[in-house]
Amino acid sequence: MADTIFQKILDGDIPCHEIYRDEHVLSFLDINPLSRGHTLVIPVEPAETLDDLSDEASAAIGRVLPRISRAVLAATGAKAFNVLQNNGRLAHQEVLHVHFHIIPRYDDGTGLGVGWNVIGTLDGNEGADLSSSIRAKL
Ligand code: AMP
Repeated sequence: MADTIFQKILDGDIPCHEIYRDEHVLSFLDINPLSRGHTLVIPVEPAETLDDLSDEASAAIGRVLPRISRAVLAATGAKAFNVLQNNGRLAHQEVLHVHFHIIPRYDDGTGLGVGWNVIGTLDGNEGADLSSSIRAKL
């Protein structure tokens, strides 16, 4: 895996506004925030996308995401937020090291703009086939 900007932050080669760190997780402020308090949470493990992340690193992130979210809300006064996690260039991932965005949403409209373009209603037969093939891959 190529050395990403987040690896450099993990290694202490470039600075960040740190919020949380433990053996498996680092959290810091996003340098180009969508809103005040926009925070990133990353694993120490150098996986590019979520599907490559180990169970241990995933669990470590899951354990602290709610706690960091609560702290962001408490410190900013925001009442709503989105958690965003992009995987792959096509899905808007720019930094190829797994990261979760915690993005407060404010009354002034700052925060994550969500486009939600449904492709239709799930067909019953297709749903049965698809859920069955996904289950088989677990
Ligand atoms: P994504 O599009 O999901 O890959 O988002 C990458 C995020 O990393 C963007 O929101 C950037 O603003 C953020 N970012 C890039 N470089 C830095 C940095 N040096 N410190 C903090 N955040 C950064």
